[in-house]
Amino acid sequence: MTVRRVIPHEPMRPLWRCRRCGAQWPCQPARLSLLSEYQGNRTSLLIYLSGLMEEAAPQLARLNSHQAPDLRDRFLTWARAR
Ligand SMILES: [Zn+2]
Repeated sequence: MTVRRVIPHEPMRPLWRCRRCGAQWPCQPARLSLLSEYQGNRTSLLIYLSGLMEEAAPQLARLNSHQAPDLRDRFLTWARAR
């Protein structure tokens, strides 16, 4: 009997694509689960995401022969309190 493992919406390094759905991480489901995980604690969420952005930036720049992509919208803007 095989047990189907649920793959979480987590980033695959160094591509920073979602392990589960293949979208650029953080994908929509990842954003939603982070928002609920850090509910009422936006500051911690932003610190966590900044750390990931710092980690992702050089890895993505290396994959990108062009310039380093602007990761702010992708990693931070959506998480700011409205
Ligand atoms: Zn995903």
